[in-house]
Amino acid sequence: MYSFEEIVGHKEIIQGLQQGIKNNKISHSYIFDGIEGIGKKTLAYTYAKTLQCLKGAASPCNECASCKSFDSGNHPDVFFIKSEKKSLGVDEIREGIQKEIEIKPYKYKYKIFIVENADKMTIQAQNALLKTIEEPPAYGIIILISTNYKQFLPTIISRCSLIKFNLLKTEEIKHYFMKSNPSQAENIDLYIAFSEGSIGRVKKMMESEYFMDIRKKVLEWIEKAKTGDLIAIYDIEKEMETYKEDIELILYLMYIWYRDILLIKHIGDNPYIINKDKINILLNQSLNLSYNNIDKILETINNARIQISKNANLRLSLELMLLQIKENANG
Ligand SMILES: [Zn+2]
Repeated sequence: MYSFEEIVGHKEIIQGLQQGIKNNKISHSYIFDGIEGIGKKTLAYTYAKTLQCLKGAASPCNECASCKSFDSGNHPDVFFIKSEKKSLGVDEIREGIQKEIEIKPYKYKYKIFIVENADKMTIQAQNALLKTIEEPPAYGIIILISTNYKQFLPTIISRCSLIKFNLLKTEEIKHYFMKSNPSQAENIDLYIAFSEGSIGRVKKMMESEYFMDIRKKVLEWIEKAKTGDLIAIYDIEKEMETYKEDIELILYLMYIWYRDILLIKHIGDNPYIINKDKINILLNQSLNLSYNNIDKILETINNARIQISKNANLRLSLELMLLQIKENANG
């Protein structure tokens, strides 16, 4: 059941949208932009449900025929466009929106189109959409959900109400999960620290042991790279390769580890440390490393991240990184 009260954070955005409903100032096209897992989709759904509610108030009544059919997932006048493919093509926009929007609503006040991952639209798709956005029928509303609105043509951006979703505050996320999942209290701080303000990411981490397993591996590799010989470096590299799909996460975890060490070196134990549960190991390592060593390690991890994102040779990039970590990690 979608309702504004259940949405975590984003109070100003909600108030703005509700004010718009009260003042009868509803835009025909919106961009909801922000990192994944932050609540954009939930808010778009709730807004669509509210707009269609037969009571016409600033919150959905949850009782009318429209609210009920929305919650059952079969609202005849709300359309969800999403593509499993890498991009959202012109055909999907033509069939899914352009043609459909010409037909009057079946039963309710508006005809609402919610486009997920809208920033995956090809230029041709965007140009097709632009025609609709330029002259929408009175009942037509389009909500584009994106993680990077700069992928849109300037002409699209200028015709949409651009709503930027801020990161959620740590307390907001913590409050939400402690209420819904008190049994997970043990690792919640760590999950939140790694989620970068995304509820979706925290949920994913909670649902599987995978994140904690991978983190454990990463900490083992760091230790082994520090103390091991060249054979050990090649072993780590080979093992890392078997986690190819998660290499981005692995390098991120490594980076954050050394970033924590750098922070400790500068200001001692502090609230910005992410790997709080390993504070003693971090304190210890920070004593043995110079600023110069830590900088070099951070730089080499960052370089590896960039190289790998550009599809450079995975094995070579990892090897080079591990060798440089080894060289610098012993002070
Ligand atoms: Zn209703």
